[in-house]
Amino acid sequence: PEFSRQDIPHSIISLLDGFKASKTLFTASKLKVFDVLNSSNSLTLEEVAGQINASVLGTERLLEAAVSLGLLERVKQQNTSVYRNTEQASRFLVSDSPESLNGYILHCNDMVWPLFSHLENAVREGTSQHERAFGKKNEDVFQDAYYSKDEVKIRFMDAMHSIARVTGKDVATAFDLSPYKTACDIGGCTGAMAYEFTKAHPGLSVIVFDLPQVIEMRRHFQPKETDDRVSFVAGDFFKDDLPKADLYVLARILHDWSDEKLHVLLSKLSKMCTPGCGLLVSEIFLDEERKRPSRALLQALSMTEGKQRSPTEYSDLLEKHGFTPKHIKHTDNLLDAMLFVKEDPNNKRT
Ligand code: SAM
Repeated sequence: PEFSRQDIPHSIISLLDGFKASKTLFTASKLKVFDVLNSSNSLTLEEVAGQINASVLGTERLLEAAVSLGLLERVKQQNTSVYRNTEQASRFLVSDSPESLNGYILHCNDMVWPLFSHLENAVREGTSQHERAFGKKNEDVFQDAYYSKDEVKIRFMDAMHSIARVTGKDVATAFDLSPYKTACDIGGCTGAMAYEFTKAHPGLSVIVFDLPQVIEMRRHFQPKETDDRVSFVAGDFFKDDLPKADLYVLARILHDWSDEKLHVLLSKLSKMCTPGCGLLVSEIFLDEERKRPSRALLQALSMTEGKQRSPTEYSDLLEKHGFTPKHIKHTDNLLDAMLFVKEDPNNKRT
């Protein structure tokens, strides 16, 4: 049969090449291409190769691929071609820019990419491929994998920090939080989200609660203007007492754990909460038919013990612990948000 232009399966072809494009972005970030171009504005191929300590031939192919992906620009300057960052690269890919995604990109390269290279096994076995990819078993992905080495820990924290800085404002401003005076950000990591909450709500103080291994690194990530309304408490949210607050924030926590484990955490939170206390969940919400967004469904393939859920699934989970869904916000950023309120058990709906 005749093959017409409409028959070209563009979406399949771009999926087919997608992994090469991802790895081009990861490699350019890892080799600091965006950083060296940022400090010199524009550089020739040879200058970039020299500064990133790589072959001219390899650098040329990497830079040309990055230009084709819209990550870099190449322009003529007095008979020579020079490379420079696109506006987007300057804003999101340079490692010390305020909205940098660099930490998350390096985490994807170093932690997620190796896991996905074993996806066939992950699907056959239905388990995380951490041991195949990294030669080590892990029971708890945070304590056994991410936090067993300082270098890996900082990279993971950097990844969380970069996403939280990009999404934090939208999450913090998703709802009217004026009834709340004290919040506790459960698993609040570097505090990046907490600072966005205090910036957005002048009457709110936020306690960041996370594992001791994380809290001990907090100074590494402290913003320039510190805020004495943000404080840090170390502990394990499955085992230790949680700080008292009238709003609890769970940002990117619930998707990491099974329903069974979450019942342990949620029943502790439920005990801490008096009627009227808020619980703000921020995640990528799946649509009710579990068809979109694919970001969430692709992330689920890393086969941690958790799962991606829809707003109804989150509500079912939380309603078992006395929290009623009040508002939902699709932010159009990387994370959505839902606000739950603890009901008075005496006024329980029938
Ligand atoms: N909430 C942050 C955000 O949205 O950027 C970080 C999300 S990260 C996916 C999960 C966080 O939960 C990590 O900071 C991790 O250290 C913390 N965490 C994992 N297990 C924990 C536990 N048992 N007790 C306290 N924190 C824990």
